[in-house]
Amino acid sequence: MILYSFNMELSNLNIFIPLRSNKGLIHNTLSQKTLLLNVNQFEKLKELKSSNKIESEIPFDFFLKLSKIKAITASAKGQLKNLKNSDFEIKQNNEKVMLTIMMTEGCNFGCKYCNQGLEKSTGYVDEKLMEKISEYILNLDPLPKELEITWYGGEPLLRSKEIIKSSTFLKNICSKNNIGYNSIMVTNGYFLNGQLSKDLYEAGVLISQISIDGDKISHDASRYVVEGKGTYEKIMNNIKSSLTSRMNIVIRVNTDKRNHKNLKNLIEDLHKKTILNSKYFSIYFAHVYDPKLNMLENQENVDSTLLSHHEFAKIQFDMGNYVRELGGSIAIELPSNQGECIASRKQSFAIRPDGSLFKCYIPIANPDESFGRIENIKDSMESRTFKKWNSWSAFDHPNCSGCKLLGSCRGSCRFNYISNSYKNEEFKCPPSKYFTNEYIFQKAILDGLVKPHDWDNDKSKTKIDDLRFKPITI
Ligand code: SF4
Ligand code: SF4
Repeated sequence: MILYSFNMELSNLNIFIPLRSNKGLIHNTLSQKTLLLNVNQFEKLKELKSSNKIESEIPFDFFLKLSKIKAITASAKGQLKNLKNSDFEIKQNNEKVMLTIMMTEGCNFGCKYCNQGLEKSTGYVDEKLMEKISEYILNLDPLPKELEITWYGGEPLLRSKEIIKSSTFLKNICSKNNIGYNSIMVTNGYFLNGQLSKDLYEAGVLISQISIDGDKISHDASRYVVEGKGTYEKIMNNIKSSLTSRMNIVIRVNTDKRNHKNLKNLIEDLHKKTILNSKYFSIYFAHVYDPKLNMLENQENVDSTLLSHHEFAKIQFDMGNYVRELGGSIAIELPSNQGECIASRKQSFAIRPDGSLFKCYIPIANPDESFGRIENIKDSMESRTFKKWNSWSAFDHPNCSGCKLLGSCRGSCRFNYISNSYKNEEFKCPPSKYFTNEYIFQKAILDGLVKPHDWDNDKSKTKIDDLRFKPITI
């Protein structure tokens, strides 16, 4: 065996998962890759964890494997420093611009937990405003390489014709200027029939995210157009016909105390309706959070229906397993997108029909969170509100800067950290963090690295404290 002598350090972004028979997994959150370690390798790395230094001889192929997943590095501090710099560079440059366009404030539903308040106006984004949005994009220097538009509302499909026209308009501008275009829509699904999906797809809207409030009984009790007449079956029929148009459908299941016990019924129904197994379909479970966090007046009190983070995390994990058991795909598990969103990318924002701008779409109904107006974008980006959102970095925050998930999560949703109303909330991480080891292990099964019996119920489970390292000043 060729042994290799080197002087390297273990990355701070490694997660070690002990398995049965003293084997283990090492997962690095920067590369988001996992290696299976045999008894000797696992013991060796565990020993080294205390000093973080590797000054010994190890087999060359093992060295290569560890390097490839970024689990070892010339300097652990240097790795974080480089990551911080590249993260800053990526998020401040123009390469990718993401805009959330609130096509209309109006909605045909009246969900009690809606974070836009219960009184909605009927304003919508007209051609003039679309012109201003396109001017903004074309004035960027250099031009972006990629434009991602999210059509949002209210219920955006109350203005479906305008979405098709506006998306086609932006798609054509992008094609003339060599900018990649892709677009997503967030809808309640009520109007999304098969023909409309085809037209939207041709206009560049490739994904629709549809919110569902649990199984038929739970959904119909909370999402109705006329009280007593639910919308579940209509939405399911719409999903089925939309899937034939190649539109990708993602269901977001809003989960709270009222519906969590019946979620298996929903999954089974999706399976029965042959939706769950479509290659164009995926699902995820979302924690209904407190609409009070938007500091809106006249907000209904829904405290008694909210699940704790831990309660939700367990449901999310169990239901994800059930979806996979029945052959479906899960859209979101452990955070993996490096905190990328409109709030973190400097040139990205959400816009309301009146032209006011926001760094995040959640507080879009709260005028105090607006950083300015589209006609005045340059000055708007100098505002205190803009700077508050744009300057936040996970690398400087005490919670994230010592977290091993920093590589893939990067603070995830910065709304949790920045919003004034959220500052007293204790847990700001994606709830899936409570099941970090379990998610990594499941992925390792799918990758053929381990078998289910390798899991050790005493040793392998996630321990939140093990996900921290001593923050380093970089
Ligand atoms: S502390 Fe939470 S939000 Fe921050 S990186 Fe870790 S998991 Fe993500
Ligand atoms: S801060 Fe959070 S809610 Fe706001 S756009 Fe980013 S990920 Fe979405």
